[in-house]
Amino acid sequence: MNILIVDDDEGDRRLLRRAIKQSGLEAECTETVTIEDALQACAGQTFDCAIVDYRIPGMDGLAGISALKEGCPHMGIIMATGQGDEMVAADAMKRGASDYIPKALITAASLNRTVTNAIEKEALRKKVGQQHAELTTFARTLVHDLKSPLGTMRGFAQIIQRDLKKGDLEDASEYCDLIVQGANRMGALIDALYQYAAAGKPFEFKPLAMDRVIEDTLNNLETLMKDRGATVAASALPAVNGHGPLLAQLLQNLIANGIKYSRVAPQIQIAASLRSSNDWVFSVKDNGIGIDPRFFDEIFEPFKRLHGNGGEFEGSGLGLATCKKIVEVHGGEIWCESQEGEGTTFFFTLPKAREMSAGQAS
Ligand code: ADP
Repeated sequence: MNILIVDDDEGDRRLLRRAIKQSGLEAECTETVTIEDALQACAGQTFDCAIVDYRIPGMDGLAGISALKEGCPHMGIIMATGQGDEMVAADAMKRGASDYIPKALITAASLNRTVTNAIEKEALRKKVGQQHAELTTFARTLVHDLKSPLGTMRGFAQIIQRDLKKGDLEDASEYCDLIVQGANRMGALIDALYQYAAAGKPFEFKPLAMDRVIEDTLNNLETLMKDRGATVAASALPAVNGHGPLLAQLLQNLIANGIKYSRVAPQIQIAASLRSSNDWVFSVKDNGIGIDPRFFDEIFEPFKRLHGNGGEFEGSGLGLATCKKIVEVHGGEIWCESQEGEGTTFFFTLPKAREMSAGQAS
């Protein structure tokens, strides 16, 4: 790890260096005398943690903490206080310091504890910040996507109401169809949202025969396959450790997408091979429209759609985000390979089933 020491006193810096060396932390130390120099050092290098003297020349100690927090928001900051400075520790924490340590109490053990805690605290803060940002975007998009069909439905209901008053019902049936379409879109989005939320719940791993999971999935997709003249071929699939309904949902989303994003009779192939001694890699290959490689990561984000609603391909944009969540709660990874116009293959990994006797997988 990289630790930044900000202190104008050569003796105190030496004390800190020694304590860090003896603390067992595998750390590279960089030293600066002023906050300005510290900010400059941060611009050129990432530090996990800074230990900052409260009484530093050129800047009030608290202002220094604020400046460092602003310049390096994810760095742990520990304020080293002298005698009588303890009162300002609470203020320093409010300004973004992760912790404080009285200089008189600096030992190898106390420093190890304080630095480790500060780094963990900042990592947690960063994660919470990211989750908050994701949740805000998620809520904003969801509100937009739910409001949009609602607006359409309200608009057509008002037109029907107006026409009713005039006694002109010529187009009423067509408008009713559009209201039903809007309601269906909202219903589909609510279902997709429910599945997305359910995909992240903790569950108990069980040995499962994927052959059986795919059977259930194909039963659910029977009507869609018939309507589109789609064929799905699966080679013998292995047993994995997982949650049956979630894995059926994963396969269903991938196969349904393979069928949906196609302008020819869809042909889907599912296969699996061993990736390591611990996990299998599954593939779901289609002959559809393909995906531009620039969007390989984005498509797994909630609400990310490469096709606007009201066009050729309808959807919620939650299907692949749900797949990603399902694979990740199983400890696996998901990715895709494709070229526009040349079909797409989605790959995902799942843990091998624990040792079990024949017929135990369900
Ligand atoms: P939805 O299908 O509801 O839009 P998804 O999360 O399932 O949402 O997919 C996100 C986007 O990725 C889709 O809008 C589509 O543009 C693209 N996509 C997904 N699967 C395929 C596929 N098999 N072939 C081509 N494009 C796909």
